[in-house]
Amino acid sequence: MKEFDFNFKDIVDFANDVIIVTNADQINIPGPEIVYVNQAFTELSGYTAEEVIGKNPRILQSKETDEETKKVIRRGLEQKVPVRVTIRNQCKAGTGYWLDLSIHPLKNPQGVVTHFVAIERDVTEQKDIERKLEVLSRTDPLTGLINRRTFDEILDNELPHFKQSGEVFSLLMLDIDHFKQINDNFGHSVGDTAIKTISLACESNLRLYDKMARIGGEEFCVLLPATKKESALEIAEKIREIVAQTPIRTSNGDILATISIGISEVENTDTNHVNIMQRADENLYKAKKSGRNRVCA
Ligand code: GH3
Ligand code: MG
Ligand code: MG
Repeated sequence: MKEFDFNFKDIVDFANDVIIVTNADQINIPGPEIVYVNQAFTELSGYTAEEVIGKNPRILQSKETDEETKKVIRRGLEQKVPVRVTIRNQCKAGTGYWLDLSIHPLKNPQGVVTHFVAIERDVTEQKDIERKLEVLSRTDPLTGLINRRTFDEILDNELPHFKQSGEVFSLLMLDIDHFKQINDNFGHSVGDTAIKTISLACESNLRLYDKMARIGGEEFCVLLPATKKESALEIAEKIREIVAQTPIRTSNGDILATISIGISEVENTDTNHVNIMQRADENLYKAKKSGRNRVCA
């Protein structure tokens, strides 16, 4: 290899990525000891080199560090092969951060692995953005309820549980009555307030484990786990009454609105969310046809 008249250690010292070198003497507790850290390590973790030399990198982990990820690292160290993971560590002050972490075995001239180098990049910002996007893709921004896609998934996951345990669940499909009139008479923003007020009135009167979603403009679905049709009817009636009495605040005083509800109970022949929702929708249609502000099952 061509000789350079600069010191390679300088590059490592000044790199923006965190670099930690440990010995490879023992993998079991107390484990490999840190023999070198660069300046980026101190900037990110808050620990000086003196504070960590001789210690195990485990001191950088916390309760939030994933057990599976730790196992992957451990296997890599045992087998002396490269590992790449995303891991949550913690700085000296206790703040958590996400790292893109690569570990490589380092060999001496005889080809024996004597050390490991960990090269780490702080990816906390990307992780935060990923998490925000994940939440956005699963929720409805107006009400904060889960959206239709998420609800379909939840319902599809509930089916195998029912087939296995025989525990019946029910579904409510809700639609605000004459909602177009609210929009037309009071404006779109009062319409939005009505959607928010009604969804909150419903959700806060459901049980903790019930799942409510906004599946369309002014349409909602509620999954009632471990609930037969008869109990679902009682819950739906309660919600219908509460909504009818819940004032919707507008700048020109309070208004009232009502909802219609269709119910379905899961059946052995159901294969996915579509079947169950279709029956609830048919019952909702009946509720509308028979005068609105009512429940049909
Ligand atoms: P029905 O009793 O038969 O349900 O009558 P309806 O007037 O409520 O009819 P429908 O359910 O079809 O009305 C849906 C209306 O909801 C149409 C649309 O303009 C309005 N809408 C949909 N999404 C929103 C929203 O996010 N905000 C507001 N303000 N209006 C919405
Ligand atoms: Mg409607
Ligand atoms: Mg509608």
